[in-house]
Amino acid sequence: MQQHGSFASTINCMDGRVQLPVIQWMMREYGVNYIDSVTEPGPIKILDENEDAATVASIKRRLDISAGLHGSCAISIVAHYDCGGNPVDKDAQMVQLASSIERVRGWGYGLPIVGLWVDEEWVVHVVEGE
Ligand SMILES: [Zn+2]
Repeated sequence: MQQHGSFASTINCMDGRVQLPVIQWMMREYGVNYIDSVTEPGPIKILDENEDAATVASIKRRLDISAGLHGSCAISIVAHYDCGGNPVDKDAQMVQLASSIERVRGWGYGLPIVGLWVDEEWVVHVVEGE
């Protein structure tokens, strides 16, 4: 089998300001070579509402590759300050994030799932999960 390195996965916002902070935090935290990024505008809104079935299925399809083919060791789900795709306050985002974690846990990957908050200085904080 070809050596392809180690992976972790993130369900992140598409916002450019949060890409590197999340990738760098996850590489450090999990000691992996690569982070697979599944990005949407305000993904926790999409996963919490569960109304946009096509987008939810697309997120799951991408995670299937990351968890299956790449053997990802952990999944993060990201909320952040000043989210254009999800313009609600942090308290509301924390509720959406908890619900998003439960939804993805229900997909049965059996991986640790961590909820992250990226603050106004683009610093990453663990707010939920393992
Ligand atoms: Zn955002």
